[in-house]
Amino acid sequence: MQTQSATIDGVRLLARVEEMARIGATPAGGVTRLTLTDEDRRARDLFDAWCGAAGLTVRIDDMGTQYARYEGGDPALPPVLVGSHLDSVPLGGRYDGPLGVLTALEVVTALRERGIRPRRAIEVVNFTNEEGVRFEPAMVASAVLAGKYTPAFVHSLRDRAGRTYGEELDRIGYRGAVENRPGAVHAYLELHIEQGPVLEAAGLPIAAVEGIVGIRWCEIVLRGQPQHAGPSPMGTRRDAMVAAARIVVAARDLARSYPDPVVATVGRLTPSPGVINQIPAEVVLSLDVRHWTAEGLAEISDRAQEMARKIAAEEGVEIAIATVQDIPPTHFDRRIVDLFAAEAHARGVPHRRMVASAGHDAAYMNLICPTAMLFVRTVGGRSHCETEAIAGEDAIVAAEILCGAVLRLAEEV
Ligand SMILES: [Zn+2]
Repeated sequence: MQTQSATIDGVRLLARVEEMARIGATPAGGVTRLTLTDEDRRARDLFDAWCGAAGLTVRIDDMGTQYARYEGGDPALPPVLVGSHLDSVPLGGRYDGPLGVLTALEVVTALRERGIRPRRAIEVVNFTNEEGVRFEPAMVASAVLAGKYTPAFVHSLRDRAGRTYGEELDRIGYRGAVENRPGAVHAYLELHIEQGPVLEAAGLPIAAVEGIVGIRWCEIVLRGQPQHAGPSPMGTRRDAMVAAARIVVAARDLARSYPDPVVATVGRLTPSPGVINQIPAEVVLSLDVRHWTAEGLAEISDRAQEMARKIAAEEGVEIAIATVQDIPPTHFDRRIVDLFAAEAHARGVPHRRMVASAGHDAAYMNLICPTAMLFVRTVGGRSHCETEAIAGEDAIVAAEILCGAVLRLAEEV
């Protein structure tokens, strides 16, 4: 089937990304725009103004998520949702999130300007609290849509100053109504920066994202014999720190025996009492393992635990392992992934498929509707930092591909 095509306005898109980046701008070129702060309110207000100028109707749901609707030829059909988030981490970058929201807005604006009204409505989404740094956990607004958290749970989350999510929604004037949530959704698409080095290394501007890795977090407690560092001959020790050090290296080596994007990381290691002249009595360490299949995730985490137990036995220390978080892998809708690849191919844009290694709202949306993501090459693979950067041409190419895919899905019966 030959559908109509629209060309997005790349200059306008990039100018808007830069204008949005002035809200919460940091001296080194990044942004600090934590969710539900005054900066977030200003970002929302600007987005709302742009949507209004584009002739879109904006709704706000009970989680504070904004939906800007471009009505379709048949308003009764479930809409195509496309978007991302406008909040950031502290000293974060200007593209993580806003690029997806503003590209979605550009797509809809371009369609409207060219007089293209697809069969289904298209809604541009700005999810509240994607990052989860002010109110943990992350991605709660999409999780509520997917029925994973209750609104009461989310509204009662507290930041470090003791203010709740609900109070802050009220304070910035963005508490909407439960009726404003989307009902049935035809598809959800999210364009996002890759946040890693894979596309740059491959010399490719974009990737069709097939899914998101599963993540398992464990806490490992090692108990040895606390002793004075001096009068304890090396052969007599039961040293929890040495066991921990061996586990850190063994986890790294284990993950290296798998292909990318399998990873294992010890990010936290707490010895107690933690003084210079004592062999610690106890060391607590975290272990984060990621794999793109459920079987693979179970296998690598079982192997990591087995290896940790073996090392503990060799070092004569006691070990206890607890799983503290277990997120299964996400497999996006094959048809939409293929559609992104086909749209790239049709434009002669070199691309690949890949698996995302960090969480996104798309993971929860995937539980309620066909979903996929489109990644844009990230300079140096740097993200969640002030020097996060992309090439403007990559963003424009990605926007054209997103536009093509959105239009096709919105024309579906
Ligand atoms: Zn993001």
